[in-house]
Amino acid sequence: MILQVGDVILTHEILTEYFCCDLEACRGACCVEGDSGAPLQLEEVAEMENVLDTVWPDLSAEAQSTIDRQGVAYTDSEGDLVTSIVRGRDCVFTCYGADGCCYCASDKAFREGRCGWDKPISCALYPIREKRFGSGLVGLQYHRWEICRPAVDLGRKLNLKIYQFLKAPLVRRFGEAWYEELCAVAAQLEAEAQKAAE
Ligand code: SF4
Repeated sequence: MILQVGDVILTHEILTEYFCCDLEACRGACCVEGDSGAPLQLEEVAEMENVLDTVWPDLSAEAQSTIDRQGVAYTDSEGDLVTSIVRGRDCVFTCYGADGCCYCASDKAFREGRCGWDKPISCALYPIREKRFGSGLVGLQYHRWEICRPAVDLGRKLNLKIYQFLKAPLVRRFGEAWYEELCAVAAQLEAEAQKAAE
């Protein structure tokens, strides 16, 4: 089912499917899996460049030389602007915590109060993928990825839906008022489902 909230069209699964990242199980694999970088908005390239000095010591030698050679971003085979990657898969901003998990170096620096920008909005919104249309409409879709299977299980255990787990990035992207409208649509969907089940 396709829903519309303001200028955003979205698949109903974003309101009905469970999700909560489980780093202990997945080890942050999304930073190093896949054959392309993370989608970027043009203005986010400057944000990544601004935090480079802060995160530089946390990056691998391969990532540092890739950034020296081609910068923090490139245009992939589908014509999308994405973060640069090393060995054909790892985002250049990948770093490893003491626990062996992959983290985004920028997000880690932000959480530690070392910089003022966390990470590209496409990373913050995952597993929601965003598509911008020329008409000003935005499309949101649930992107299913096998490596995130533990997140589905944890979300179910915690009774947390995708839109609830992603409250902060959704508010960052679309604003508080839009998110409240989204919650109202979710509540209506749930009430209808309950009524149908009676
Ligand atoms: S998006 Fe998927 S792979 Fe990345 S941290 Fe969440 S569950 Fe793990």
